[in-house]
Amino acid sequence: MANSQDTVLISGGGISGLTLACALRRHDIPVELVERKSDLSDDGGVGLSLVGNALRALDSIGIARALIALGLPADHLEIATPEGRVVARSSTDEQWGDGIPGHCSISRPALHRLLAERARNAGVRIRTGLSIASSTPVGDCVEVGFSDGGSARYRLCVAAEGLHSATRERLFPGLHPAHSGQACWRARVPRPAGLLTTRIHFGGRLGVVGICPISRDDAYLYVVEAADARHREDETRTHLALRERLTGHYGGLVADLLEHLTDPAQVSYRPLPVFLLPAPWYRDGVVFIGDAAHANPPVLAQGAAMGIEDAVVLAEELASAPASLDAALAVFMARRFERVRNVVETSRDLARWQVEQRRDVDIGGTMKRVAVALTAPI
Ligand SMILES: Cc1cc2nc3c(=O)[nH]c(=O)nc-3n(C[C@H](O)[C@H](O)[C@H](O)COP(=O)(O)OP(=O)(O)OC[C@H]3O[C@@H](n4cnc5c(N)ncnc54)[C@H](O)[C@@H]3O)c2cc1C
Repeated sequence: MANSQDTVLISGGGISGLTLACALRRHDIPVELVERKSDLSDDGGVGLSLVGNALRALDSIGIARALIALGLPADHLEIATPEGRVVARSSTDEQWGDGIPGHCSISRPALHRLLAERARNAGVRIRTGLSIASSTPVGDCVEVGFSDGGSARYRLCVAAEGLHSATRERLFPGLHPAHSGQACWRARVPRPAGLLTTRIHFGGRLGVVGICPISRDDAYLYVVEAADARHREDETRTHLALRERLTGHYGGLVADLLEHLTDPAQVSYRPLPVFLLPAPWYRDGVVFIGDAAHANPPVLAQGAAMGIEDAVVLAEELASAPASLDAALAVFMARRFERVRNVVETSRDLARWQVEQRRDVDIGGTMKRVAVALTAPI
């Protein structure tokens, strides 16, 4: 058995796991990372928006500026009618810090490449095609067994395994994500000329329809709609199904983009979950971060952002209390739980209100209140 008792083992090479690897190396903490897939890639969609709080957290570990250079930074969103008329600009600029924009949209592969390159350059040992089979607390360490039959002892194991974490299932059996009542369509499309920030169409036949530019050439079109948990789409005709939903009901740039929906591989459909692991997010030498601990509909664009914040805070606490893991994890939970709970529960409510097109609740005011709350230091 290998002995790595000063080392933190990260299970999962998604945004949360890779960010944690980079953050731990900033504090000179030795790190190993294992990823179940045969490569480090994001399979979650085309692109995403990172709001200022995520960028601020990434800035504290020296990554935000490179990310902003690769993506499309902006300080507002455009609000449009179903016909495509822009009726308002909603500011996302909540004063996140010097040089940090309100949000930055980026292609998921580009973000993954950046994080993986930074982790490798910082000396993280990364093994792909490998997962954790068991974990057992032994004294101050955790003994981890791997899917290839190997095993080693670590100071701590961090499960950043995403929504369907097998390690969470093993250590917290019976705690599953719930269905939010909505599903999301996402399609890779060319960036409409002149569109420099996300345009969101409210009030139409479907819940929410948005276009998010992620680079000079690319954008993604998304639709969030009410959906039964059991509903599945035929993967060979997702492009046709999305076109049928939108044709005749949306104008402007959305209508212009329909001709580009030509390939089912370019269009995905996914039910949206809600999940919050009760505190504390650790047990028997394993701590959970990112989607493995919490997930919500992307109405506030805070899923990856919360995972990034988890990673930065956990690294800070492990570095500041090197002698006492229990103390570090207790402070980590104290810094994370209420902030994440607010995001998960508000996102769940907002997504439902938007899809139901509720006029008796202050959707814009609620979004603004969360955005302002998130400016508080983590
Ligand atoms: C439609 C949609 C739109 C979104 N838009 C945004 C947005 O605009 N902004 C935002 O901030 N967030 C957004 N999100 C949320 C964001 O995508 C997720 O929160 C984020 O990708 C979660 O990252 P993660 O690293 O925690 O988990 P994951 O991305 O799921 O990564 C987990 C990794 O762990 C690996 N793994 C799993 N099990 C094991 C195992 N046993 N051993 C080893 N490896 C394992 C997986 O292969 C994977 O690589 C959106 C989500 C959806 C569904």
